[in-house]
Amino acid sequence: MTYTVLSLFPELIDAFFALSILGKAVHRGLLTYRSVNIRDFALDKHKTCDDAPYGGGAGMLMMAEPVGRALASLGIPNRLDDPPVAAVPGPKPRVIYLSPSGRPFTQEKAKGLARETELILLCGRYEGLDQRIIDAYVDEEISIGDYVLSSGEVAALVLIDATYRLVEAVITPASLEEESFSGGLLEYPQYTRPEQYGILKVPEVLLSGHHENIRQWRLRKRIEKTLALRPDLIRQGEEAGLFERETRTIIAELRKSGVG
Ligand code: SAM
Repeated sequence: MTYTVLSLFPELIDAFFALSILGKAVHRGLLTYRSVNIRDFALDKHKTCDDAPYGGGAGMLMMAEPVGRALASLGIPNRLDDPPVAAVPGPKPRVIYLSPSGRPFTQEKAKGLARETELILLCGRYEGLDQRIIDAYVDEEISIGDYVLSSGEVAALVLIDATYRLVEAVITPASLEEESFSGGLLEYPQYTRPEQYGILKVPEVLLSGHHENIRQWRLRKRIEKTLALRPDLIRQGEEAGLFERETRTIIAELRKSGVG
């Protein structure tokens, strides 16, 4: 997987890629990263990348020309060109504009994106991008939530953070198995040493070494937690036929006892 990030402040992204598991994955050659400073593609000597919107209104917009030139420098074809520019041979990178108008980002979406060969992430600033760049180059707009950030870099980091860990061999597959959202449920509560913290003890079953009892306890806790905190996930899972008989039985029992 290659992440290519186009931004007016690429240093923000560069720092993220240098650290922790992500930095190690790059070092091990499991991921590739490159940043493109859109300002390098500005046309005037002041490196201007923003201008006032036609029709008036508050704020400035990112201009089409520098962003378009930055994308063209990566071999991304402008699909509105006549005749169309031939794409660079090989797997087509997916061009994503991080935007509050985009489809909501979810764990399912992250899984799909982690299977791509290259993601080109376009970070907006100011009041956003000239629409013509979206029309000509963007495959998909993605929103990280129903709120407005001041910059696309933060949203791009969220997308990168949620996807890179799903790329094959970056982390052990077992770590992903019973995570929140897998199988339509949240994660079970977790505990580490000490066995007693103030008056709070680690649940007895986790100290028992009895694998089947631990499995059952964890499954029940996942369901309890999801019913209490995210009943919408349970409804979605039911509609999609995600749950096995054991899970369905526990859901029914818990509902009977007033949970969810
Ligand atoms: N005027 C835009 C609107 O009302 O939709 C908001 C622009 S916002 C101040 C600047 C940039 O932050 C956007 O171009 C986008 O790249 C990014 N951004 C803001 N909120 C976002 C969100 N919820 N998800 C993804 N990107 C977001």
